Amino acid sequence: MCAGKQYTKLDSVVYENGKKDGGAGHIVTMYENNRCGLRVVLCKIPGAMCSLEIIVPTLATDDKGTAHALEHLVLRGSKHYPHCGYLTAFMQRNYCAGRNGMTCADHTVYVASAISEKAIGRLLPVYLDHVINPLLDPQQLPTQVYQINDQGHEGGVVYNEMLSREDKPDDIVIHTMLKKLYPDHSPYAHYPGGYTGLLSTITHKEIVDFHSEFYDPCNITVVIAGSVTEEHIISEVLEKIPPDRFTTQCKSTWGRHCLQHRGKSPRSLK
Ligand SMILES: [Zn+2]
Repeated sequence: MCAGKQYTKLDSVVYENGKKDGGAGHIVTMYENNRCGLRVVLCKIPGAMCSLEIIVPTLATDDKGTAHALEHLVLRGSKHYPHCGYLTAFMQRNYCAGRNGMTCADHTVYVASAISEKAIGRLLPVYLDHVINPLLDPQQLPTQVYQINDQGHEGGVVYNEMLSREDKPDDIVIHTMLKKLYPDHSPYAHYPGGYTGLLSTITHKEIVDFHSEFYDPCNITVVIAGSVTEEHIISEVLEKIPPDRFTTQCKSTWGRHCLQHRGKSPRSLK
């Protein structure tokens, strides 16, 4: 049993596949923030590289791509690191790479990798602040999501991204099939990236409301894999983040662990 004032060790298992690498198995340990419910999973895997995933269970409710629009706005400035572009510059200075976000029908994930747990540890408070406390500047909406420029052409980062995807045969086949397989209220019946014809209908308020509903710390799991230690990531990094950075409303009805945090019954890894 560990941890400190803020985090409690919930569970630990040995992932047997690690034996294939000649070891005794990879140790996977889950921790939970006692106050806000944020969960952290450390996977000890030999090697220099460490990978970081911040996983948010999100729910596609239509084909507009609200979750995707939010994903693009999230990393463009936060409450404690308000300058747009700071996160990218910070990562470059700390030997981190691979910053990316991916939106799926039932979750959104933010990823990064670094050459050591110390580099991941430096990045973690900054990255988490962007995910949990983003500025969501309304002025970024046209540039990042949808706009009509002075030439009368449609544009926006998400618009251009989806324009290059939505006519691809595999996307058409998969999403036509999913719409036939699942009822309309299922997230799998919707196109998580958003159809270009609908992106213009996303409002700033919808994005803010979506963040408020799903991006609660008690709904979020951080997974770090590599040569990581509890002593560094939990004790030296996470325990030292001021508690008021992660406030929880605990109102999501989608993420299972948010519901469990309300009931205070920790989930087992087994
Ligand atoms: Zn995108």
